[in-house]
Amino acid sequence: MANICPIKNIADLVFEARRVYRETFDGDDANVALCAPGRVNLIGEHTDYNEGFVLPMALPMVTVIVGSKISGQKCCVVTQTEAADEPRVVHFDLPNELAPLLRGQPNWANYVKGVVQHYRARPIPGFRAVIANSVPLGGGLSSSASLEVAVYTFLQQLCPDDGDQVAKAVACQQAEHTHAAVPCGIMDQFVSVLGKEGHACVVTVRLTVNYTVKVIVILINNSNVRQSLTGSEYPTRRKQCEEAATILGKKSLREATLQDLEAAKDRLDGVTYRRARHVIEEIERTAQAAEALKRGDYKEFGRLMVESHNSLRDNYEVSCPELDELVAAALEVDGVFRSRMTGRAHAMERAVKHIQKKYHGSPTFFITTPSEGAHALSL
Ligand code: ADP
Repeated sequence: MANICPIKNIADLVFEARRVYRETFDGDDANVALCAPGRVNLIGEHTDYNEGFVLPMALPMVTVIVGSKISGQKCCVVTQTEAADEPRVVHFDLPNELAPLLRGQPNWANYVKGVVQHYRARPIPGFRAVIANSVPLGGGLSSSASLEVAVYTFLQQLCPDDGDQVAKAVACQQAEHTHAAVPCGIMDQFVSVLGKEGHACVVTVRLTVNYTVKVIVILINNSNVRQSLTGSEYPTRRKQCEEAATILGKKSLREATLQDLEAAKDRLDGVTYRRARHVIEEIERTAQAAEALKRGDYKEFGRLMVESHNSLRDNYEVSCPELDELVAAALEVDGVFRSRMTGRAHAMERAVKHIQKKYHGSPTFFITTPSEGAHALSL
């Protein structure tokens, strides 16, 4: 099919990373390898930090790490991706109580250092590692969480922890908070750890996970417009949600109903009201969407996705003209039930052609299937 980006397979990534490892480290070979996936969220946007549901799936795009332990306290990490800031080789000492690992330059290494700092077992040995990846950086598919989970999984090979998967995801989230300074929710790390082939998963407030079947193929359509809630916007949205919960007298918006919101409308300014409305409705939509998927009701699922997009655009105000244009174009294609950048298998070719014709930017398409969470690879 034309214009669909191929996804590099894991064996090729490992092969390439081993070659770089040998080149960088005087002909030595790496002796462990692992991968951790990126993710796409089907529905449930900005619900995770409000203790609501999300419905993500792990992707076949992954971060791969190959490496080895070495004697001493030194670590050396190389990233192969040209999209990372320079330098792409970093050296640092293992942290100890007196000298924790701190944020610094280059920025990409903060994700690595953060995970080393928050790793849940000691003593971590010195190590060398090479990172390769097929998750586009900064494209909303969670390359950052996949990098964190990959680093954690790498450390598990060198110095095993107790194997608690939830605590692993939480440690990676902590790394992102403290070292990348992004106050993210838990979804991305969670699904990168616990993703299951062929399944989307409902992640609940108590960090339990239910696997829902029926996800076969997802067309991911990247607008190629840099549009992410970094900088001040993401913390602002979080703060607005917390304020709304406080005014409603709830621990989180997860506990609030639309009736609660309407009853408190006079005490909320217009913006806070709209933010809260998105979150409360989106939590309900996500639960309904999971049920719809379970019974194979794609039409209902699609309707909920469209509602979700509209609410993100109008209430949460996190869309952009390019994204709106993409969604509108996808919705015009016969057979596309849901359109938050995804379409159904048999409508894919039509969707790709139509969106290319209608969209003014240059979109990139990936066809993906739900994939396995982080795991070790044999060399
Ligand atoms: P995303 O949606 O892809 O997670 P972010 O902007 O949150 O977008 O995170 C992207 C950042 O994660 C990159 O700028 C880089 O610092 C880091 N990163 C992700 N993958 C890699 C990698 N393979 N090598 C180096 N840095 C990476």
